[in-house]
Amino acid sequence: MPELPEVETVANGVDARVRGDRIEEAWFSSKPEPMKTPPAAMAKALTGRTIERVRRVGKHIVFDFTPAPERDAVQRVQWIVHLGMTGRLVVADPDVPRPPHTHGVLRLRSGRELRFIDARRFGRMGIHVLEKVLDKPEKPKDEAAGIPGFKGPGTEPLHISKAEFRQLFHLRRTSIKAALLNQSLLHGVGNIYADESLFRAKIRPRRMAARLTTEELDRLHGAVQKVLREAIRLGGSSVSDYVDAAGERGFFQLRHNVYMRTGQPCLVCGAPIRRVVVAGRGTHYCPVCQH
Ligand SMILES: [Zn+2]
Repeated sequence: MPELPEVETVANGVDARVRGDRIEEAWFSSKPEPMKTPPAAMAKALTGRTIERVRRVGKHIVFDFTPAPERDAVQRVQWIVHLGMTGRLVVADPDVPRPPHTHGVLRLRSGRELRFIDARRFGRMGIHVLEKVLDKPEKPKDEAAGIPGFKGPGTEPLHISKAEFRQLFHLRRTSIKAALLNQSLLHGVGNIYADESLFRAKIRPRRMAARLTTEELDRLHGAVQKVLREAIRLGGSSVSDYVDAAGERGFFQLRHNVYMRTGQPCLVCGAPIRRVVVAGRGTHYCPVCQH
């Protein structure tokens, strides 16, 4: 399942390819699973819109559109895509055959197509209708401070401060691994990055979050941000069928210290990496480096 770095890589890749392009026509399949908005309504809301930019919010990909005062006065919208388990957003030339499981196609003025492909159909597409903020057209400069519109659940791990991070976890009476995976606390951290962050912070995944010291929580805060940033820089981790907007695989999997390295020597101390199940998920850690 794509986690924050993979979703960010896809969003950035799509942004670089479709920013400024206009949606001439939108088509969506009649399969109900990937649609949060009925296909016809979604196509109507998107057709004729110019893509201002594409960005990640949590594990969602958000399409912002260039202001269109007359249309916006009726309804100002964003297009929200969640990749689910196997969803992909790909920019392709129209003469490249549409792969099986293509559930959405935006035909763009540039002649290219933006396609949503999803074999397992856990991905979602929908229209987010913005509140009427048009009376006071503010232009927020700070991304973290929030652009109006879709927010998603949980706190953004790349922007959270040390103090906020402690606040989120210091009373949780679950394992720290489960707390990291809880999307209503931090969003976008899944199994890979939880394991890798705990390794770097030298904390065992089964420790109760509420028992961690302030120093440990601070270490974990730093580790989560560092791991996510490094993974974004390397284009995410390709562990299943994840590919970015251009169909390229990511490289962060080559830097994994513990994830899916059961029985292999720890890269720091040489002890064999262990696998246990925590919060229902396969969890990997070094029994010597992590306490
Ligand atoms: Zn070790």
